[in-house]
Amino acid sequence: MKKPRFPRVALIGIGLINSSLARVLRREKLAGEIVACARRQETLETALKLKLCDSVTTDPAAAVKDADLVVLGTPISAYGEIAKAVGPALKPGAIVTDVGSVKQAVIRDVSPHIPAGVHFVPGHPVAGTEHSGPAAGFAELFHDRWCILTPTAETDPHALAAVTAMWKAAGMRVVTMDAEHHDLVLAITSHLPHLIAYTVVGTATDLEETLESEVIKFSAGGFRDFTRIAASDPVMWRDIFLNNREAVLEMLQRFSEDLTALQRAIRWGEGQKLEDLFTRTRAVRRSIIEAKQA
Ligand code: NAP
Repeated sequence: MKKPRFPRVALIGIGLINSSLARVLRREKLAGEIVACARRQETLETALKLKLCDSVTTDPAAAVKDADLVVLGTPISAYGEIAKAVGPALKPGAIVTDVGSVKQAVIRDVSPHIPAGVHFVPGHPVAGTEHSGPAAGFAELFHDRWCILTPTAETDPHALAAVTAMWKAAGMRVVTMDAEHHDLVLAITSHLPHLIAYTVVGTATDLEETLESEVIKFSAGGFRDFTRIAASDPVMWRDIFLNNREAVLEMLQRFSEDLTALQRAIRWGEGQKLEDLFTRTRAVRRSIIEAKQA
């Protein structure tokens, strides 16, 4: 039988993303043995019960011992501490990658703890749902979605190729870009929309009681679509905003200006301005459908 590409894989965090990856590694027979690490026994027991891994531990350093591939998949605020703990236990030649939604902060927090001879490949599979935990994952999550890898000047090309091949096996289209560019692109495509959804839903829940119950009843008018996004994991999203501050503030500034312009158009009854914008935005939706990203 052919030897698996990664004889031993350590998944640090076994939530939506890493448990989906575990399912892919199993399906594609890419891993010999999978060890999962999380803080809570409950999480680890679920991972074992779902056969996502062969063994579990709450100790990240023990998890990475002898691992050929390590995938960081916790909320990003934990990355620095985890990298510090696992650094000395990493096997020479091992590949460390991650799935964090922000890349510059991850490189800042993780890189200093990666010893010489270990290869770090920062990554972000741009796929997800509003659900969390090991039971929420599924192998098809990544299918036809984009994975962005943000190698640094030190990233080993063979390690980059190995991580690229893994995400391609998951059905992803893989692209590499600069971490700074990644953070800017994601600020507008993902982070700002989440911030807007959190705000819209927050505003609605602050309304007086009678109006609030109407919001739920008549939610199909558009509100419902925001609630799905605003149901995303609070810790993960807290970390994203704190760790991609500059790019999010830049996009938020532009958004506020555009919102003020719309406010003005409504106030002055400038229907043509509104219609022009709504026509332009409709075309964006069509392009997304054509790009099979709907
Ligand atoms: P999740 O479902 O909440 O899973 C997080 C996992 O990490 C859980 O198994 C959790 O288990 C564990 N964990 C948390 N803190 C830990 C620590 N200090 N040490 C060890 N394990 C820890 O989260 P997710 O949605 O998979 O997101 C994980 C990462 O993927 C994040 O960095 C996020 O930015 C990125 N990402 C998310 C999405 C998305 O849509 N969800 C998409 C792309 C990328 P315990 O609570 O038991 O510790």
